[in-house]
Amino acid sequence: MPVLCPCGRTQAKGQPLTLDTCCGPYHAGQAAPDAQSLMRSRYSAFVLGDVPYLLTTWHSSQRPAELTLEAGAKWLGLEIKQHRTTGEDTAEVEFVARFRVDGKAVRQHERSRFVREGGRWFYVDGDVL
Ligand SMILES: [Zn+2]
Repeated sequence: MPVLCPCGRTQAKGQPLTLDTCCGPYHAGQAAPDAQSLMRSRYSAFVLGDVPYLLTTWHSSQRPAELTLEAGAKWLGLEIKQHRTTGEDTAEVEFVARFRVDGKAVRQHERSRFVREGGRWFYVDGDVL
């Protein structure tokens, strides 16, 4: 059974993409083609607990020295609200990520900024909405 991608991306016909044909290649080192794809692959990395990927795709100006993921968080889904190009190498993605932790449902609504350097997109920072 192929594993569906945690980010929930679908093909044109609404078929969900598998991890291997969606975020998996980015986790394996392929450059994400746009900020939305990078955002999605970072969400998937949260779900999969891929801390090295989260740090690698964090812009060096904002990257934390280390990252500890919330233990026991159950990720429920990602919804991309808007993907906006703001410059030649900058973009913004507005999203809602839902997860449950300690029995409480959390809805994280954020507008994140991304920058492209050397052909790769990086997460810079974001505003909680
Ligand atoms: Zn994906």
